[in-house]
Amino acid sequence: MSAKVALVLVSHSRVLAEAVATLIRPMTGPDLKIACAAGAGDDGAELGTDATAILAAIEDLDSPAGTLVLMDIGSALLSAETALDLLDAVIRSRVSLCAAPFVEGAIAAGVAAAGGAQLDTVRAEAEAALESKRAQLGLDSAQTTPQPANNVDSVTREVRIADPAGLHLRPAAAIARLAQAQAANVTLAPADGSRVPAPATSLTALLGLGARGNATLRLSASGAGAEAALDVIEAVLTAPTQEPEPPEPVAATGPRPASPGIAIGPMRTLRTTMPPIARSLAKDRDAAKRALDAALGTAKRQGGAGHAILDAQRALLDDPALRAHAIALTDRDGLDAAPAWAEAIEAAASTIAALDNPILRARAADLRDAGALVLRALGVTHAAALPDGPPAILIADDLLPSLAVTLDRDRVPGVIDRAGGTASHAAILLRAAGIPYLVGAGATELKESAIVAFDGATGEFWLDPDAATLAMLRAREAQAARDEAASRSNPVRLADGSDITLWANVASRAEAEAADRANAAGIGLLRTEFLFLDRVLPPSEDEQCAMLRAIMAPMRGRPIVLRTLDAGADKPMPFLPLAPEQNPALGVRGLRALLDNDAIFETQLRAMLRAGVDHDARIMLPMVTNPSEVTAARAILNHAHEALAGAKTDHAWPVRLGIMIEVPAAALVIADFADIIDFVSIGTNDLTQYTLAADRNVPALAGLGGTAHPSVLALCRKVAAEARVPVSVCGEAAGDPEIAPLLASCGIRNLSMAPRSFAAIRKIFD
Ligand code: PEP
Ligand code: MG
Repeated sequence: MSAKVALVLVSHSRVLAEAVATLIRPMTGPDLKIACAAGAGDDGAELGTDATAILAAIEDLDSPAGTLVLMDIGSALLSAETALDLLDAVIRSRVSLCAAPFVEGAIAAGVAAAGGAQLDTVRAEAEAALESKRAQLGLDSAQTTPQPANNVDSVTREVRIADPAGLHLRPAAAIARLAQAQAANVTLAPADGSRVPAPATSLTALLGLGARGNATLRLSASGAGAEAALDVIEAVLTAPTQEPEPPEPVAATGPRPASPGIAIGPMRTLRTTMPPIARSLAKDRDAAKRALDAALGTAKRQGGAGHAILDAQRALLDDPALRAHAIALTDRDGLDAAPAWAEAIEAAASTIAALDNPILRARAADLRDAGALVLRALGVTHAAALPDGPPAILIADDLLPSLAVTLDRDRVPGVIDRAGGTASHAAILLRAAGIPYLVGAGATELKESAIVAFDGATGEFWLDPDAATLAMLRAREAQAARDEAASRSNPVRLADGSDITLWANVASRAEAEAADRANAAGIGLLRTEFLFLDRVLPPSEDEQCAMLRAIMAPMRGRPIVLRTLDAGADKPMPFLPLAPEQNPALGVRGLRALLDNDAIFETQLRAMLRAGVDHDARIMLPMVTNPSEVTAARAILNHAHEALAGAKTDHAWPVRLGIMIEVPAAALVIADFADIIDFVSIGTNDLTQYTLAADRNVPALAGLGGTAHPSVLALCRKVAAEARVPVSVCGEAAGDPEIAPLLASCGIRNLSMAPRSFAAIRKIFD
């Protein structure tokens, strides 16, 4: 006889669970496996639920047919979710938590399971268990989707992941943060049912879904604000990608190139592994739990401001499932804080490391790294930092991002990683720092102290290279330096003798450093919203100031245009309360949203003024339509200045105030702004979408002509001719070799673009 689905009854009351088991037994017959995981305390006599008892019951009953878990009220679900997180992955894959009412659901599930139904059907039967009662009472069916839901508040929807990299660390962190701030209970699962739903509050569980780009997820929410909770999570899943991560080569044997450049030097091993952590027992379990919470708090407060990658890493520490696992290990096994935390981190990291998506797999290092911050706060430190002595090429074993961010090329001319991936955050950081990097060198012989040479662009690698090879590599290096120098001219000269100045669009410290390397005239657009996309609470003035200063530092005196939050439309900001709209691109976004939320606006302006000290900082307003909006914004800016001056707080003043021209109406009356602004930057991305009535995110509309359309160019020409203040373009078109010359022919003399576009634009103008 093949195995039948087993039932675990989770209740706060052992008496209740046993009564339900007794009630259904006559209907199921003696063979069906039913376990009660109910009550708390040593003998289960107290009211409460216990994750470890649920875990034991599931493990006990496990069979290929699977197990359905029915729960009574409130925290029973939390305990069951914690138990799931602790389960072995194989067993977990055949467990289903059921939202059905406890008594009716157990009866329906018992009958279906005893009849040999499969797990999905048993769950569906249980979840439909209220239907007959509702029908009898003359109520409408509670079912809203083909998947029966017993709970009238429960809503589900299917959402495709827009980011080609899938549900990776940053969006997952954003979702976990958002979910933690919601009253509703939200889960995410692959729509094909291939994995158990992950609680949206658990970052590790979300990463553990292994969801790839374009995959469809089923979002379910119940409780207060369920629809709104799904709205915000859907917004994250469908948001356009910020930085596409480079694809991982499909099959790789030897070392793979992860950051370009020539590296030559002696090798030294970087020993950053944690010392073995003994499974020591806590003298006082409560004190151990308090120590863990204090260490989590310390780790979350540690630096990294302005570093989106390290910030996202820190978001891992907010994962309630990680903490719950560690706490359970202290409660169940009596482990002290450090070994409990180390074990919880390792369990989650190894699940992620086993995923088949290389981009998600690379997040295991992030998890261990974030975990190490907590261990450090508990007094456990890395065995060693950088090796002493002359500059050396480091041999790493899955380089941690927190270490990568501290490396500098003068001390570390290159890094060879036995593990690692080209999509890892360590690789992104080393590329930003210009340090050559090879990954996947596990099978390569690496001898401490031997001289090594490698080309981080091609992956070529030489152990003890001969003189001819060294000469060839030095020649390659010199040629690359010459190419870079030749490509650094700024401004560039046009055939008619006029100059075009190249500026950078940035949203992170790494991009500002790239802008510096590309010899940008300054930052023409600092998109501040990308610092805050995953923030549930408005960032404080101090925090914003620190983040801005970190990004501004590489500019050293060059002009920096700080754009105030461009929230709304395709950039929803969780902390900015904007009403749902039919056409958000035509709704309350950009400056309109800021003027409706003047406290948030003024806080940002104060942060900008403070960050601008010792810099040539300028402030720019997005999505301006009418001069009256600029006047209103200037009044708030003046107020911010007066308040800072009153408090004797150092800040930049006076400051230039400019506007973006993105709305055709503003372009058409540009002369009306001349007396109230100091500069203009044309946002061709939005100006094009609004002029052509063609959503910028719909590729099928590209055929309408895009920014090269004569109507858009006519608006650019008008703005350049009539603005009477300096004009630049900071939309994508500025960095497009085909469109930039058209903009130049409209009289535009300043182009602001992503640092990676500089080389191509220099080529067409020089
Ligand atoms: C633009 O609209 O061209 C622009 C630079 O702003 P964003 O792309 O951030 O909307
Ligand atoms: Mg815009």
